[in-house]
Amino acid sequence: MALVKKILKPFMVVAPKVLRSSQTVAYPDERLVFSPRFRGRHRLHLDRCIHCGTCARVCPCSSILLVEVEGREGKYPRIDYGTCSLCGFCVEFCPTKALEFTDLVEFSSMDRGRLIYTPEMLSHVPDIKEVIPRLKRRIEPYLTESEMKYRKVEEL
Ligand code: SF4
Ligand code: SF4
Repeated sequence: MALVKKILKPFMVVAPKVLRSSQTVAYPDERLVFSPRFRGRHRLHLDRCIHCGTCARVCPCSSILLVEVEGREGKYPRIDYGTCSLCGFCVEFCPTKALEFTDLVEFSSMDRGRLIYTPEMLSHVPDIKEVIPRLKRRIEPYLTESEMKYRKVEEL
């Protein structure tokens, strides 16, 4: 009897955890709603930029270079995500709030050249369905007394 108990004990411990609802997010069918303070890819508001160069000067990773934009005067930031650490200094110190973070994280690439975002690229933030066509819903986590669960926030 003692031997049977010994054999069954691990199953008794594991079974409740296996049977309760999933703790994982079924990405890319569903995606978490991130905190407003989340740091994803930048958005650049071209009209707000005054070409001061503060963002490039404060960047600790030297990821920002000011470059010209066709049809516009002055120079605007270009960001190299191959080196950017998403520290947030450029956003924090920009005097006109021309730079801000979005919640876009889907921009990885095996080609380093494709991680360099021109001002025009930074000014365009695609709809999430363009980036993840099969995305069906946004969800957010919440805590019950014993576990974390997810609830639907938006159907797409
Ligand atoms: S987030 Fe930080 S590392 Fe990235 S471009 Fe801005 S200042 Fe540089
Ligand atoms: S994005 Fe902001 S900090 Fe950078 S050059 Fe333009 S105004 Fe200056």
